[in-house]
Amino acid sequence: MEVDEIYNLACPASPIHYQRDPVQTTKTSVHGAINMLGLAKRIDAKIFQASTSEVYGDPEVHPQVEEYRGSVNPIGPRACYDEGKRCAETLFFDYHRQHGTRIKVARIFNTYGPRMHPDDGRVVSNFIVQALEGRDITIYGDGSQTRSFCYCDDLVEGFIRLMASGDEVTGPINLGNPGEFTMLQLAETVVRLTGSKSKLVFLPLPADDPRQRQPNIAKARETLGWAPTVPLETGLERTIAYFRKKIA
Ligand code: UDP
Repeated sequence: MEVDEIYNLACPASPIHYQRDPVQTTKTSVHGAINMLGLAKRIDAKIFQASTSEVYGDPEVHPQVEEYRGSVNPIGPRACYDEGKRCAETLFFDYHRQHGTRIKVARIFNTYGPRMHPDDGRVVSNFIVQALEGRDITIYGDGSQTRSFCYCDDLVEGFIRLMASGDEVTGPINLGNPGEFTMLQLAETVVRLTGSKSKLVFLPLPADDPRQRQPNIAKARETLGWAPTVPLETGLERTIAYFRKKIA
């Protein structure tokens, strides 16, 4: 078998989906990493791991730097994802130290774009689909929590640059767009860009929902010469155009 590079992105990433079968979610990240690292070791392939900003949990350090060790509730409803991904990072670094496996660990911050599933359940697709269908826009909590949204093409460019970097570059390295927005700002922007008549409704905030999130991308800039190029409104316009066709 000839394989030079492995990208491991396996695992649902939307809270409603990864919480549906939490045991399977942890298994996907942990057993999945063991399986893929075993393969990489056997065939001497470079291996990329899609890690996540969720390793920082509900962060006390803002913006998040890679050195920050995070604040994850290990027994909460998000733990199956967060701790699964954290354990996967542990396995990657132990394979690297113990077996010399060439690893590339990216910590991905909220990403969106065309071809998301209409029922993905994450905030960008939810708000756009609700706005286009004239349904209420569901804001969880008071909408003051923040996220930083990266357009998918920018993220993929970061993956490719990380994979192409020298063997000394292992990560973990933050990949995300530092533009930080409240969920209220996101909802208002989506309503404006779609010209929707939907109204905003406020629903309970899910347990352990992180209050704020923003990547520090100094490492990605220095090591990969990478930074996002697509501002939120441009990316939203492209995503709205996609969903207009998809659900028409
Ligand atoms: N959110 C929201 N309405 C929705 C879906 C999500 O207000 O219909 C909020 C959610 O509570 C969180 C933020 O948007 O504060 C991002 O949620 P998402 O599920 O997209 O990703 P994650 O929480 O994993 O960053």
